[in-house]
Amino acid sequence: MPIRYYSTNRHLRNLSGIEPFAGLVSFKEALLAGQAPDEGLFMPDSIPQLAMRDMLALRDKPYWQAALLVAKAFLSDEFSPEILDAVVQDAYTYPVPLEPVYPRAFVLRLDQGPTASFKDFAARMMARLMSHCRPKGERLNILVATSGDTGSAVGEAFKGVEGIDVTILYPAAEVSLMQKKQLDTIGGNVTALCVDGKFDDCQNLVKEAFSDRDLARYNLTSANSINFGRILPQMVYYIYAWAQVAGPDEEVIVSVPSGNFGDALGCEYARRMGLPVAKLVMPTNENDEFPNYLQTGRYAKVSPSRACISNAMNVGHPSNLARFFDLYGGTVDRSGIVHRDPDLEEMRRRIFSVSVTDDETRRTIKSVYERYRVILEPHGAVGWAGLEAYLRRTHDDKTAICLETAHPAKFPEEIEAALGVAPEPPGSMKDLASRQGEAIAMKGDFNAFKQYLKSALKVKA
Ligand SMILES: *Cc1c(COP(=O)(O)O)cnc(C)c1O
Repeated sequence: MPIRYYSTNRHLRNLSGIEPFAGLVSFKEALLAGQAPDEGLFMPDSIPQLAMRDMLALRDKPYWQAALLVAKAFLSDEFSPEILDAVVQDAYTYPVPLEPVYPRAFVLRLDQGPTASFKDFAARMMARLMSHCRPKGERLNILVATSGDTGSAVGEAFKGVEGIDVTILYPAAEVSLMQKKQLDTIGGNVTALCVDGKFDDCQNLVKEAFSDRDLARYNLTSANSINFGRILPQMVYYIYAWAQVAGPDEEVIVSVPSGNFGDALGCEYARRMGLPVAKLVMPTNENDEFPNYLQTGRYAKVSPSRACISNAMNVGHPSNLARFFDLYGGTVDRSGIVHRDPDLEEMRRRIFSVSVTDDETRRTIKSVYERYRVILEPHGAVGWAGLEAYLRRTHDDKTAICLETAHPAKFPEEIEAALGVAPEPPGSMKDLASRQGEAIAMKGDFNAFKQYLKSALKVKA
């Protein structure tokens, strides 16, 4: 049976007049649509299983082979093996280091791609998949709301791709100077809009554009973490990392610093494909809606979201929470109302979450460096602090893998303040200072945004 994709909102009734979408679509349709017609998120109706021996065989192999294993499992009925092979080999040309911290504890550095963030992994594979399913003779217009790292990763991933233009919205006051420079200077088919507002405002502008009838003719497509094409590549590194450090059926603990929950969702799917993950640790920053929910069983989004130093995780109601709820049998809508509770006991067995303050984040950067000489940036430090909180509480002694989602050199002020040393920038960041380009300033108002899109976007290839 081919895998088809359904909407997380299919059970909702009469929600602001939107008819629930009860249908099923192909991966290509889900990839191009971004979200379901009822504004829900697409989910695969079955999850392929990986054989233990195929996962074990990834030890000491290049990363793209892990990506090919996952891509074939999900996409074989829609893409030829030759296309999938070309997509992953072209996407993954950089190292994926697994750094030992202490015996059987590792930091997985996902910061060696072109924008030095884990979002490169998803964006590069998605861009290459999209270039194989664009409608003939027409352009695609990608809209991306970013709190920092998504936009540049998506922009860089699509840069120069035929027939595709990218518009990136970012919150003026919530990105670092370096992130701003990265976003403003991509150029070519990639335009940056600097929005007077918060990340949630950017996200709402994009969501509203997708449901606006006048804008339908522009082939608007999302590349945010709501697109299932972004989730799929994020399953791969869990399997790859596990294969490097674990033996047959060996269970591990994985800690994923979480904001919009797309990254952690990749781990949840990898586990459901057969990867032995005993506990998924999902630490958040001071946006503590999810750890509070796990503890109390009552969900209350954080609105407005809180501005923390791990700024790519300043999300008060994570979009991908709808997918987590769905996987555990519940339904939550985009405004944060729970329509059906998930199996909370099962969620607690599988997932641990804790909120990490900015002070704890800074202390963790310092203590991990002093104890182990390992440099973490604020997001990775939230991940590590959450892992330590989990280990303190449970004395679990399984092998642990913590994700480092950005390069420390992207946060030089925080690192220097904590450690007194400046991290060495990776090659991809060294030419940044000399790059040219300005963003277009945009009010956080939908009408202004819509007028801009109607004047700037093109339809024909
Ligand atoms: C986006 C981002 C995160 C959070 O990932 P989600 O998938 O949104 O949970 C963490 N760290 C960095 C550096 C990011 O850019």
